[in-house]
Amino acid sequence: MFGLIGHLTSLQHAQSVARELGYPEYADQGLDFWCMAPPQIVDDITVTSITGQTIHGKYVESCFLPEMLASKRIKAATRKIVNAMAHAQKHGINITALGGFSSIIFENFNLQRITRIRNIQLDLQRFTTGNTHTAYIICRQVEQGAQQLGIDLGKATVAVCGATGDIGSAVCRWLDARTETAELLLVARHQGRLEALQSELGRGKILSIEEALPLADIVVWVASMPKGIEVDADNLKHPCLMIDGGYPKNLGTKIQHPDIHILNGGIVEHSLDIDWKIMHIVNMNIPNRQLFACFAESMLLEFEQLHTNFSWGRNEITVSKMEKIGEISLKHGFNPLALGI
Ligand code: NDP
Repeated sequence: MFGLIGHLTSLQHAQSVARELGYPEYADQGLDFWCMAPPQIVDDITVTSITGQTIHGKYVESCFLPEMLASKRIKAATRKIVNAMAHAQKHGINITALGGFSSIIFENFNLQRITRIRNIQLDLQRFTTGNTHTAYIICRQVEQGAQQLGIDLGKATVAVCGATGDIGSAVCRWLDARTETAELLLVARHQGRLEALQSELGRGKILSIEEALPLADIVVWVASMPKGIEVDADNLKHPCLMIDGGYPKNLGTKIQHPDIHILNGGIVEHSLDIDWKIMHIVNMNIPNRQLFACFAESMLLEFEQLHTNFSWGRNEITVSKMEKIGEISLKHGFNPLALGI
């Protein structure tokens, strides 16, 4: 059995979902209540591969909200993640993806030191960040999106916002090794990490987001921002492909311009309907088929009976691991979400 640990994007989102799912006691409550709320299994899932194989899984809502980080409720945030992991393990789940901020919190707050939660000894082999599949899907979206828009990747400037992160660094490695991009722009806040990435790649220009945006034909957004930022279409190249892989989204503005193409990044579409209700809640366009690539990674590992933490740690994703998960993804019928043009 596979598991997905997820969370909602804001307190307001959580309240409306609680109402919709029939948890009125959660719906009218503020952040303090959500800080106390235990994890819940809120969905049972059945997925069939195009090979004909069927697997079963569960969605665990951690009750973490990004506002917990913004308001410095760090202890509550970290408790949410380890409690959700213990909950998944207690329910006999073999491989569970840590969606969205779950793996970021796990790594940033060094939660591997917490190995015991009440009577449960956490077995970290049963968890994966899902970031290898997410990075692979975003890279395929760059390649396919460029082709759809007639952008020649060989002459293109690609900016990666969140370049030094787990997903961002993997995207840079892929673009460097597999794609002839003319220029790679590296964007994040900490200069030291940017310089380390630049020297690992042996290329890339370090720029601020304000400097990078007007130069980029393609922008990959994979920064761990609790809230999206405002971007002005007038400061972008025309055409420009923006692939927003953030959860919550990195882009705070809904840009409506015929030459600016925004693609939901790190999202896959399955070839067959999935029996679940959870993706209706995060507003996917086709909720029975579309899902986060990190969640799909735990499904892929279950299909292949690879009950191991395929993606773990930080900045260790290799191009060969991305190619491997990519092959398994195609084999079972998952495709990168494409531009709707
Ligand atoms: P990491 O924490 O590993 O990396 C985050 C990156 O963002 C770092 O480079 C960080 O560098 C940078 N960053 C953070 N804040 C800012 C800012 N304000 N401006 C510029 N750069 C910033 O995160 P992951 O790689 O694990 O995840 C990245 C995003 O992808 C998250 O939003 C996450 O929720 C989402 N995600 C999506 C998935 C999917 O399936 N679609 C799956 C998993 C994650 P610095 O701190 O130096 O600025």
